[in-house]
Amino acid sequence: MNGKYERITEIFGANVFNDSVMRERLPKGVYKSIKKTIEGQQDLDPALADVIANAIKDWALEKGATHYCHWFQPMTGLTAEKHDSFIAPTSDGRTMMEFSGKELFQGEPDASSFPSGGLRATFEARGYTAWDCTSPVFIKEDGKNVTMYIPSAFCSYTGLALDKKTPLLKSMSALDKQAMRVLKVLGNQTSQRVTATLGAEQEYFLIDKSYFEKRLDLVLTGRTLFGAMPPRGQEMEDHYFGTLHERVASFMHEVNIELWKLGVSAKTQHNEVAPAQYELAPVFATVNVATDHNQLAMEVLQKVANRHDFVCLLNEKPFAGVNGSGKHNNWSMSTDDGINLLDPGKTPHDNMVFLVMLCSVIRAVDKYSKLLRASVANSGNEHRLGANEAPPAIVSIFLGSQLTDIIEQLAKGGATSSKQGGELKLGVSSLPPLPKDCTDRNRTSPFAFTGNKFEFRMVGSTQSTGGPMFVLNTIVAEVLSEVADELEKAKDVKATAQTILSKIAKEHSRIIFNGDNYTDEWVKEAKKRGLPNIPSTVGALATIMEKEHVELFEKQNVLSKSELGARTEILIETYGRQKNIEALTMLNIAKRQILPAAVEYSLILANAVESVSAVGISADAQKEILAIVSGLIGSANEAVKKLEASVKKSADIHEALERAEFCKDTVIPAMNELRKYCDALELNVSADLWPLPTYAEMLFFK
Ligand code: ADP
Ligand code: MG
Repeated sequence: MNGKYERITEIFGANVFNDSVMRERLPKGVYKSIKKTIEGQQDLDPALADVIANAIKDWALEKGATHYCHWFQPMTGLTAEKHDSFIAPTSDGRTMMEFSGKELFQGEPDASSFPSGGLRATFEARGYTAWDCTSPVFIKEDGKNVTMYIPSAFCSYTGLALDKKTPLLKSMSALDKQAMRVLKVLGNQTSQRVTATLGAEQEYFLIDKSYFEKRLDLVLTGRTLFGAMPPRGQEMEDHYFGTLHERVASFMHEVNIELWKLGVSAKTQHNEVAPAQYELAPVFATVNVATDHNQLAMEVLQKVANRHDFVCLLNEKPFAGVNGSGKHNNWSMSTDDGINLLDPGKTPHDNMVFLVMLCSVIRAVDKYSKLLRASVANSGNEHRLGANEAPPAIVSIFLGSQLTDIIEQLAKGGATSSKQGGELKLGVSSLPPLPKDCTDRNRTSPFAFTGNKFEFRMVGSTQSTGGPMFVLNTIVAEVLSEVADELEKAKDVKATAQTILSKIAKEHSRIIFNGDNYTDEWVKEAKKRGLPNIPSTVGALATIMEKEHVELFEKQNVLSKSELGARTEILIETYGRQKNIEALTMLNIAKRQILPAAVEYSLILANAVESVSAVGISADAQKEILAIVSGLIGSANEAVKKLEASVKKSADIHEALERAEFCKDTVIPAMNELRKYCDALELNVSADLWPLPTYAEMLFFK
């Protein structure tokens, strides 16, 4: 064996207190007990706390850790951590290294500065973090600092969820419960548990750090607020899957090593569609672990980029006119005995479990499409969804020809056959025949069936996968509970199941669309079908508190009405704040960088007109250029004033939704106008004077 490969198997998970470390280091009984808790079969036993904490501490100290922290995911969508060292001074002036069960199980961050949407009044700062033992403890090395991380949930003093993890865990158990009911009544006698699985593909841009530092818009908002289209964009279609640039390849190598150490199974990497855009995908895991891992992946990408003098841009739309970044969430459900419930098998038409699961997802997505849309609504994603780019803001499902055919058969009463794929012969005898998939792929669908899982592609690249995933788990759990209710009281389960399938196929076929989602025809067709089309973030967020959504989350025990309300408030407020920062940043750049450069250039031109005329030659051309530049300066200046006025007005609006709507209707159009004139100036002002790195430089120089 090649030594290099052996090393990778050693590196993988080296910094994780995973199952094998646990088995090795915990007393047998304790290991068995915690394992049962991790598998959802029993509650966490506080009596074991000290033993487990001690084993974890010994392990962490051997790895060189000096500190530990509860690592949680507040509503900012980022992660939060507060470090404590293990030291416990003794009376003789020395120290011991201590870590108690209580410290493992519970943390008490002073949480008053995290968004709570009014759930936790600021005078009452107490918040709790609680160890989530279903996601393993790990060690992170940041420079010389080595810290042990304890994945945790975060709640208020009164027990209300203030984070992304709590509802995610609750949605997983709702899905487990309802899917198990369905499996049992359909005759499954072996499975104990159903887990939602997630493989999150992460898209990102890499640009040189020296350019980043010269762009206040990237530094403060993560995206360019100015920038004319370069002469060349992505029209050559030569970047996707192209050869990796050496500097980028070295970066990716280091990212992989760092992630492998953390037990994140980084697997796939390639160039994406846009120049300077890339993708990283791990092997799937439970949605909870995968969500934690995705947070780590985003962090590692940024950290390692910095070491290579790159900056990793995670924003959904760093560059106008160039493809944005998403996070494709591949989702399925698996049983503890290894059955993927969305695996159609060879003859899906007679695979009852698969058909029930498939139809339940179809009904869930159609019935709650507005919630799914809302789960991916943020400031950056607004520039992707419904803005002439993939995927659109209309939620629909791609099923492919084989399953669409089956759904059509079901709608007519019952399915009796499955179209088969066959073999693809390439016509060259040295090339092997390829088994042909039963369906082609579709890259434009927001929610696509891809063989044995669904791929939810609307999720934004900066987002925690926690939000979209707890929504998806919950809506599917709800439909499965309806199905289970009917099947459990049925005399003839099979016949009843057939009736349910036919009914769903008839009622929800409108959500299925296999064509090109980017076309205007689809927008019209979707309208005819009555599918919601909500392009704006504010519009999408405003639907969250609709009565049937509140009832859904309460019934599935995922979020209470006040928790949901608080979250919605935070999301809407955040949108308004981000837009405000963007507007202020634009004003800053326009007034302090762009206009001064343009004015300076106009002075050069004016001098040229004078000097050239003085020697008796026509300066008409110089005058013409000056007129263009001066005209644009005037227009840009007017646009500055207009934007300033609208920003001022928005500051006077105190109600979050009203303010966000004002941003959408007034501030954003004013921003767009200012950009238009400034971008025109970029194309008319001397490159030597232009203060900002251009799109061409940022996207094409490596
Ligand atoms: P592509 O999107 O190009 O088809 P893959 O088929 O390799 O790529 O899968 C993309 C992602 O889907 C990977 O992260 C993979 O681990 C994940 N995936 C595969 N099977 C499942 C599953 N059953 N549940 C969740 N994710 C899955
Ligand atoms: Mg994919």
